[in-house]
Amino acid sequence: MRRGSWRVRILIGLAIVAFAFVRRCSNQEENPYTGRVQNIDMSAEQEIAIGLQSAPEMAQQHGGLYPDERMQSLVDAVGNKLVKSSIARETPYQYDFHLLADDRTINAFALPGGQIFITYALFSQLTEAQLAGVLGHEIGHVIGRHSAERIAESSFWQTLATGASVGGDMGSLVSGIGQNTLLKNGRGDELESDELGVLFMIQSGYDPHEMIKVMEILKAAAGPNRVPEFQSTHPDPENRIDKIKEAIQKYSGR
Ligand SMILES: [Zn+2]
Repeated sequence: MRRGSWRVRILIGLAIVAFAFVRRCSNQEENPYTGRVQNIDMSAEQEIAIGLQSAPEMAQQHGGLYPDERMQSLVDAVGNKLVKSSIARETPYQYDFHLLADDRTINAFALPGGQIFITYALFSQLTEAQLAGVLGHEIGHVIGRHSAERIAESSFWQTLATGASVGGDMGSLVSGIGQNTLLKNGRGDELESDELGVLFMIQSGYDPHEMIKVMEILKAAAGPNRVPEFQSTHPDPENRIDKIKEAIQKYSGR
């Protein structure tokens, strides 16, 4: 009797694991803007809805929007120029650039679907071309569908962990692997966004070498007073500079 229930548990566990893999395979699609094959289980409309829904809360968490309209319109002008000059224009996403009042946390980030944020702390350190680099990078996250990909990835690992914990004591091991995969993806996301950012800068008439300066500014910011939010969302500034140089070579030759 005990043996039987053990077998049933293994079978249910395996079924859940199989379900996770089948769903993962059926969710594979090629990103039409980057050409990369991704696991995603939501539409562009859903991405836009998630972004729009979370945007006010994101702004709230950073002390709201920056009150000076002139600064905000500068951010809009640079952001819109990048969108108009690049493939971003052909995507279904609704780009919106928000300058946040936060003057302490050096950060910029994108929600799925096109809601893009930059803190005043970072904005105030940048020239126009460098701002284009930061916003171009964030547009890269939107077009690369990195949030949607990570959501799909985490639901895959959750299902796998569920299957493993039903079937045996492997649950924690599998969730450990899941965590690592998320971190690795995070790094790949940054490099893809940097490359797209460089391309968008060139297409909009900005000097892409300014992206290297952005990395130096970010590196200096992560120095003695490490900002955890920044570190976690933008890992490895050193390694990124080499890849940015490669991207400049690649796209400047065109
Ligand atoms: Zn990033």
